Amino acid sequence: LTSYVGFASLPKQWHRKSMKRGFNLNLMVVGQSGLGKSTLINTLFNKELYPIENDGLETAEQLEEVSEVTIETASSDIVENGVKLHLTVVDTPGFGDCINNIDAWKPIVEEIENRFNIFLEAETRINRTTIVDNRIHALLYFIEPTGHSLTALDIQFLKRVHEKVNLIPVIAKSDTLTEEEIYGFKQRILEDIRNQHIKIFEPPQYEDLDDEESLQITKEMISKIPFAIVGSTQKVQTADGRTVRGRSYPWGVIEVDNDDHCDFIKLRQLLIRDFMEDLKEHTAKVLYENYRTEKLLKTGI
Ligand code: GDP
Repeated sequence: LTSYVGFASLPKQWHRKSMKRGFNLNLMVVGQSGLGKSTLINTLFNKELYPIENDGLETAEQLEEVSEVTIETASSDIVENGVKLHLTVVDTPGFGDCINNIDAWKPIVEEIENRFNIFLEAETRINRTTIVDNRIHALLYFIEPTGHSLTALDIQFLKRVHEKVNLIPVIAKSDTLTEEEIYGFKQRILEDIRNQHIKIFEPPQYEDLDDEESLQITKEMISKIPFAIVGSTQKVQTADGRTVRGRSYPWGVIEVDNDDHCDFIKLRQLLIRDFMEDLKEHTAKVLYENYRTEKLLKTGI
């Protein structure tokens, strides 16, 4: 059974030095409660980073209690084949759950910018060799599986953050939609993203560096965005007797780690195996740099 996360498989862009030091990845997750954020994180890293509320059916009273978005951070070291990944997940409970969601983006943008500011301050000190990179490297945005298109809240939020973070939109709980529904839903989401000029992270295609096969893998990955996700840490039996991570239905099993059933593997490959370094580099060289330039201009330094 897969207990595999994938960062220790020595992909091409990682140097031996970083293999020895280990990696760090700071991931933010945003989306209404109950969309499977904690489950997906546990599934991705094959670890109980988050306790899952059992039925996930938040009662009306519980939802009403939420009056603002809060920021919760969980860190964990994951070791695979002797290589260490220091993972930080920043969760944003309350997003989309308030009676008034107009300002839901604010604490999230503040958190991203605050992490930029801390980095900026550290950079301006004399001893810069020990800077820890706490900047957010990617933001997983969970889209409710309605089958329609993006909501006003989705669009408003995405526009607030798209120039500050690598956005990775995912369709939550895609096992609740049919294949055709997912197909149409993806087209409409992409249309909204284009029309609203929202920038999402696109895996770079290095025509000159990559071989045909890697380019093909990247192209296929891109063609699946926004990834339709199923999360589950439960082991279930398939009809042909395999034990897999999945969700069991009267009509059969939806497998997490199966490209024919959902895009979970694609998401994991993007985040962990193929493009972790690119996410971090884009954060440092583009998103952070833009923020820094703007800030220095504003303060007149
Ligand atoms: P969060 O509030 O966004 O962190 O959501 P949780 O991860 O706590 O999940 C809420 C409920 O949805 C739980 O009962 C999960 O078992 C269930 N769930 C999580 N992921 C999926 C999924 O991909 N498909 C389905 N059908 N249910 C899911």
